[in-house]
Amino acid sequence: MMGVFNSKISSFNEAVRAQDTEAISEIGAELLRIGLDECAKPNVGAGLKETYRKQCLTVVSYLAKLARTVAAPASAGAATDGADPYYAPQQWFSDEVPNLGFKDIIGAQEVKNAFMVDIVAPLRSEFREIYRKFRGEQLGAQILLYGPPGTGKTHIVKCLAGALNCKIAVVQTSEVLASIVGVAEKNIRDIFAQAAELSRCIIFFDEIDSICADRDSEDSRHTKSILTTLLTCMDGFMKTKREGQLRIIVAATNLPWKLDPALKRGGRFETQIYVPLPDEEAVKKFVSLHLEKVPHDQNVTADVVAAKLKGYSGADIKAVMKQIANRPLRREVENVLSKEIGRPLGERITMNDCNEVIEKYINGVTPEMLLHFEAYTRGISYEALLELIKKRKLNQ
Ligand code: ADP
Repeated sequence: MMGVFNSKISSFNEAVRAQDTEAISEIGAELLRIGLDECAKPNVGAGLKETYRKQCLTVVSYLAKLARTVAAPASAGAATDGADPYYAPQQWFSDEVPNLGFKDIIGAQEVKNAFMVDIVAPLRSEFREIYRKFRGEQLGAQILLYGPPGTGKTHIVKCLAGALNCKIAVVQTSEVLASIVGVAEKNIRDIFAQAAELSRCIIFFDEIDSICADRDSEDSRHTKSILTTLLTCMDGFMKTKREGQLRIIVAATNLPWKLDPALKRGGRFETQIYVPLPDEEAVKKFVSLHLEKVPHDQNVTADVVAAKLKGYSGADIKAVMKQIANRPLRREVENVLSKEIGRPLGERITMNDCNEVIEKYINGVTPEMLLHFEAYTRGISYEALLELIKKRKLNQ
């Protein structure tokens, strides 16, 4: 339903641009009907409901402004006079620095190394001379993290903010995008204006690929305008950096091949880092961190469980381990509730719990997805990579 809703938002934007008051009220009413219906459904998640709620409020404010304009045209001014009565500036940066550091990143050694060389080391006095010699007086970076979903891209950036003791704005790009015409651009300008006030900051754009609509799609004009605003703000932000200020922009995507090339041009997201699935050691670490906290049978070891979770992302491993721990929990609650037993019996995770959960769990990362990332990292097409693999097999 979100797809239908977003496409109606695009039509609403079109109507606003065309100043077509009839279409504005018709589509606005339809948007409110869908939004309110969705908010009333028990199976719609809290995050999604919040998005519907925000959008509905924006539409209501717009319709109220339109009604005032129609009632008193001389004094109220046109509905599209550029002033957005429904636009409320947001606080994009959290007050607190995340209480995380590099120690909280499991695996992803190459990402940690890249952050170390590109961002952390230049700030340390013992490296200053080396960096001055090779790179000049540059602090900060613009980095694109790409990789399968759930590999910790967002988490890693929060850890970086913690390690650098700087504030972070986590921007859900798709949410910024799904707003009434003009508001997304204002929000983007606000993010950079707020960042400019800070001596150290990270702006993180999650799902940056959502800013790249297909050229022929209905909302491509809206998207293009947002992309242009983003690029202008990014360029200006980096150029106006004063000495000693640390300005970092990170973007993350699961679909790097979809990005508009303008985003990857020199001076923008030139540095691209692949965030892979956890390797064998990292999977073991994820599993043992969970097993440490929950009673389990002796034969349920990190080695044995990790061997069954090869090819899973950190987020999927966390979800699997949570489901596994829920099974003895449920048994224990049932023991206490049961009339015959009436007390806890010291339930533990068994190997059977692990097997049953893992068998049913659908891994969020498919082998095909990994091949797409491999092709992108090598700079070749997916089809060319399949050809290479076929040839390699023939030669073996
Ligand atoms: P992505 O942004 O790549 O989709 P997230 O950062 O949202 O992934 O990961 C979801 C959760 O999974 C994180 O909050 C974190 O708890 C866990 N996680 C995933 N990868 C890692 C990792 N490499 N180290 C530590 N935690 C991780």
